[in-house]
Amino acid sequence: MNRFSLEGRRALVTGANTGIGQAIAEALASAGAHVTCSGRRSCDETVSRIVEAGGQAESLRLDFADPMAARDVFEGAHYGILVNNAGIIRRAESVDFTEADWDAVMDVNLKALFFTCQAFGKAVLAREGRGKIVNIASLLSFQGGIRVPSYTASKHGVAGLTKLLANEWAAQGINVNAIAPGYIETANTAALRADPERSKAILDRIPAGRWGQAQDIADSAVFLSAPASDYVHGAVLNVDGGWLAR
Ligand code: NAP
Repeated sequence: MNRFSLEGRRALVTGANTGIGQAIAEALASAGAHVTCSGRRSCDETVSRIVEAGGQAESLRLDFADPMAARDVFEGAHYGILVNNAGIIRRAESVDFTEADWDAVMDVNLKALFFTCQAFGKAVLAREGRGKIVNIASLLSFQGGIRVPSYTASKHGVAGLTKLLANEWAAQGINVNAIAPGYIETANTAALRADPERSKAILDRIPAGRWGQAQDIADSAVFLSAPASDYVHGAVLNVDGGWLAR
């Protein structure tokens, strides 16, 4: 048996229309999973890429402006893998940070993530099945960052919930783990990369000598979704090129 194969597994990836989520959806499909690509916008491009490569996928609209949006998705649907990737960031000085920017980020990055885990976990436990949850945390799960208070708080929360859920569910056949990406070339970091000074300061602190790519995260997501990681519970895996300030 190939313990990295996802043949016969059904997976759901949130925020799969672009960036890291799109790369994860494609990587899970190429490892054999049937992937539901969910997004607040259409994931048709991701689905087409998967199908053209010979994989299986479909698109599902889930907008976490309603953090409970996934409440009815998993019951009776036999999903074995959930990747909570959808996330947003709002930047402002802490003295100026608004309640709206606090609530928007916490709702998508933390509240929706928890209640999506809950809906998935309930369905897996009800059928006494096996499950894999991969949460996308961040380098900012371990350090403060600047000008991103709600993002930092939410990603510390993601790391904490990953450990809590692993404690509760490891004995019942569900692996809950997270990946903490460093600085990855996606829309999320476009503003940083457009600023030459900030961009250089970031690169100077990445011993691997390059920004991360979405594929770097996707490869780790395949591992954490596969039987190869069956004894890994509550881990928050740093995929950040060895970030110096971690
Ligand atoms: P991205 O390109 O901005 O992708 C974010 C994804 O989340 C998009 O699919 C986005 O949909 C989706 N999303 C946002 N709000 C949503 C909502 N209300 N409902 C459903 N989906 C929603 O950024 P990314 O870099 O790929 O980010 C993916 C994850 O990695 C996030 O959790 C992010 O915090 C984390 N991360 C990224 C980095 C990095 O350096 N890039 C570092 C650490 C952690 P739309 O396209 O419609 O906006």
